[in-house]
This record gives sequence, C-alpha cells and structure tokens, in this order.
Amino acid sequence: MARYTGPACKLCRREGKKLYLKGDRCVTGKCAVERRTSAPGQHGADVKKMREYGMQMREKQTAKRYYGVLERQFRNYYEEADRKEGMTGENLLILLERRLDNVVYRMGMAECRRDARQLVLHGHFTVNGKKVNVPSFIVKPGDVIAVKESSRSSVKFKGLAESEGGVRTPKWLDSDKKNFTAKVVAMPAREDIDFEFNEQLIVELYSK
Ligand code: SF4
Repeated sequence: MARYTGPACKLCRREGKKLYLKGDRCVTGKCAVERRTSAPGQHGADVKKMREYGMQMREKQTAKRYYGVLERQFRNYYEEADRKEGMTGENLLILLERRLDNVVYRMGMAECRRDARQLVLHGHFTVNGKKVNVPSFIVKPGDVIAVKESSRSSVKFKGLAESEGGVRTPKWLDSDKKNFTAKVVAMPAREDIDFEFNEQLIVELYSK
C-alpha cells in the first residue's frame, strides 16, 4: 500500500499550519512550523497571493495530509461522501474521522496518526474481537476497538495507557485507556472535528 515516507514537518510547512503529525514534538518549541514560517524549497519564502484554485487545492492537501491519505483514496472518499445524503464536505470529514487509524489515535493508543497507522498495520488492534490490520477500516457505532491482548504488556502500550495528557477524545468515542479499549457510541458530528477545515473548498475543487 502506497504511503508518503518523506519528512512530516515539511508537509506542515508546506500548508503553513500545524498538522500534528509527530506526537508530542508538535506541542513543543521544536515544532518546525513555529521555528520557520516559510514553505520549504528555494522559493518557499516568496510571498504569493493565492487564487481561488490555489486555496481549494491547499485545503484538499491539508485534509489529505492531516489524515494521512493519498490522492486516489481521498478521491474515493469524496465520491462516497457525495453519494451519501447531506452535505458532501461534512460527509467527507466524517468518513475520514471514522478510519481505524484515526480512531486508534483519538482513543489515546498512538502518539499521532502516522504512529497509529503503523500500529494497525502491525496487527496490534482488534475490532469487535477480530484482528484488523487495515488502517482505512471504517468503524461504526457499536464497534469496540481494543489493543490485542498479547500487545498490552508492551512498554509502548502500557506507557500510553498510563499517560494523562495527549489527544482529547471526542464524545462519539468512549475510551477506556486503562483497559486498552474504546467503544464507538455515536457517529462523529462535524462539530466534533477539532481542526479548522473549510471543507466547502474541497467540494468546489472536485465539483469542477
Ligand atoms: Fe508539523 Fe508536528 Fe512537525 Fe510541527 S512538529 S511541523 S506540527 S509534524
């Protein structure tokens, strides 16, 4: 499965905002966006006025990078969102939010989404008691996500289970870190997504 393997901080610098791709480092003074505000590359510091298309493109790239999804898959999510009832932009974000790697991160069992993706790929999680190693698996209300029994004694998961801080768990997820589990208690709502997206720009881009 294809994925971006380059430097994570470069992606944030390109978008000019924190995408929180590196766990704890993102909330320290070591964050590359805080240290250098210009985009990467030779002309990164040039001030450019963005046109409508540029703004739409940047918003799409931001969402893709935030959730760690490549173009083809992102487009598929868009098409699925468009087929559903309701607002396409909201449907798109809600679909992305329901990905298993995002849920693992939101339940506090990974340092960031990239970390969550790796942990899922390595088979450390179950959904309703069955091993699932597909980061794009879409959860639904009633699903119970858990760290696999044999992985719970690892230093990593023990540390995450005991840590107080970290990501804020959304209200659609009932997380029980001490027991390495979380239950999806509702569908995520748009207001549960705590990152500032302008999803309408993405819809405009794909509707051309
Ligand atoms: Fe982005 Fe985190 Fe790197 Fe800051 S530290 S640039 S938020 S990945």
